[in-house]
Amino acid sequence: MSDCIFCKICDGTIPADIVYEDEHCLAFRDIQPKAPVHLLVIPRKHVASLDDLSDADRELAGHMLLTIPRIARQQGLEGGYRTVANTGKGGGQEVFHLHFHILGGGTPKPL
Ligand code: AMP
Ligand code: ZN
Repeated sequence: MSDCIFCKICDGTIPADIVYEDEHCLAFRDIQPKAPVHLLVIPRKHVASLDDLSDADRELAGHMLLTIPRIARQQGLEGGYRTVANTGKGGGQEVFHLHFHILGGGTPKPL
């Protein structure tokens, strides 16, 4: 998607502090961190939100879920972390390219 900011991070048009990448996804630091470690994990493929995943994305979705703990470990979050996926305007989503927030490194507030 040409006007999607996260697609532009995927193709290198917009810079980001990328901490992990593989053939299906990448992770970079959130530009406005809400925790000492705040990462966003996104698929390379443009999918707007969890609502827009289809059965064809089963492998991609599984891959992302399995990769999140690996990225968290790499970033030193052995003590634990929070994973958040805001979905739709009612869920507080602002960027409509699927992303999982990984938040950690501090004292989490109860949800
Ligand atoms: P959400 O509300 O779940 O859609 O979250 C979008 C997140 O993307 C916010 O936490 C923003 O700070 C973050 N964000 C927006 N633009 C960028 C960018 N260019 N690089 C890194 N993070 C970004
Ligand atoms: Zn996109």
